[in-house]
Amino acid sequence: AAKNDGRGRARTFNRSMMIMLEQRETLRRSLRVALKEQQFFIEYQPLVEVSEGIVGFEALLRWRHPFAGVIPPNVFIPMAEADGLMGDIGAWVLEEACREASTWPSHFIVAVNLSPAEFLRGGFTDRVAGILDEVRFPAERLEIEITETVLLERTTNNLDILHTLEVLGVRIALDDFGTRYSSLSYLQNFPFDTIKIDRHFIKDVETNPKSQTIVRFVIGLAHGLGMRITAEGVETAGQATWLRREKCDRLQGRLLGAPMSSEAIGDFLRQGSFAAGWIS
Ligand code: C2E
Ligand code: MG
Ligand code: MG
Ligand code: MG
Repeated sequence: AAKNDGRGRARTFNRSMMIMLEQRETLRRSLRVALKEQQFFIEYQPLVEVSEGIVGFEALLRWRHPFAGVIPPNVFIPMAEADGLMGDIGAWVLEEACREASTWPSHFIVAVNLSPAEFLRGGFTDRVAGILDEVRFPAERLEIEITETVLLERTTNNLDILHTLEVLGVRIALDDFGTRYSSLSYLQNFPFDTIKIDRHFIKDVETNPKSQTIVRFVIGLAHGLGMRITAEGVETAGQATWLRREKCDRLQGRLLGAPMSSEAIGDFLRQGSFAAGWIS
C-alpha cells in the first residue's frame, strides 16, 4: 500500500521528470549539429480541394536523431526557437520544400509552416524572395502558414511583412485557427488566402452541436471575407461528408492522406487513393 500513496507517486514523478529534463538537455545539445549533419527531413501531407481533388502538400519537418529515432516538431521546434536556431532551420525547410515541389505537377502548391522566430529575424521577405529566385519556384505556388502567435508579436511590422509577401504573390494561411488568441481584428487587417480551422473542432464535428456551430461560423466568416477554408485533422468519411455539405473548401487529414516521404509522393499520386476514401 505504501508505494501507492501520494508521496510515493510524487517521488517517482520527480525522478522521471529529472530524467526527462536531462534528456531534453541532451536533445538541445544535439539539435545544434542537426542541420549540419543533415538529420532533418520533410514529410508531405496532401491538401485536397473538395471540388478539384489534390492541390498540393503541406511540408512537415522531422528530425531523425542518430540515437533517439524520429523526433516530432512539437518537441524540437520550441527548443530550436529558444536556442535561436529556428531561423536557419526554417530557411532550410523553405528551400528544400520549394526544390521538392518543383518536381510535382506544375499546378501543385506547397504549404510551409513559419515560426514566430523566423518572422522576427528581420529580412524575412528578402530571404523568401531570394530562395524562390534561386530554386526558380513561382511565388504563386508557395503558401506560408502562420499561427496567431506570430501576429501577437508587435515588435516588427507584421502587416508590412504580410503585404510584402502578398505583393510577391505568396499566399498566406492562418493555421490552427480557433485554438489560440483568435482575434477577429487579424481577419480584418491581414490578407489571408486561407483559414485553417484546427482539428480540435473537427474531431467531433459529426456529433457535437457546439463544434458544428463553431465550424459553420468559421466557414461563413472565411467565405464572407473572401477567404478559403481548410479543415485540419479529417480522419473519417463522416467528417468529410459533413464538411463538404457545409461548403468547406479544402480538407487535410489521415482520411485524405497521412504525411509521407517525398519518395512516396509519386506512387500516391499514381494510385489516386486520395480521392477514393471520401467521395461519395
Ligand atoms: P500543423 O501545421 O497544424 O500541422 C498539422 C499537424 O497535424 C501535423 O503534425 C500532422 O502530422 C498532424 N495531422 C495530420 N493529419 C492528422 C489527422 O488526421 N489526425 C491527427 N490527429 N493529426 C493529424 P506534426 O507533423 O507533428 O506537426 C506539428 C506542428 O509542428 C505543425 O502543426 C506545425 O505547427 C509545426 N511544424 C511542422 N513542421 C514545421 C516547420 O517546418 N516549421 C515550423 N515553424 N513549424 C512546423
Ligand atoms: Mg500547418
Ligand atoms: Mg495546423
Ligand atoms: Mg494544428
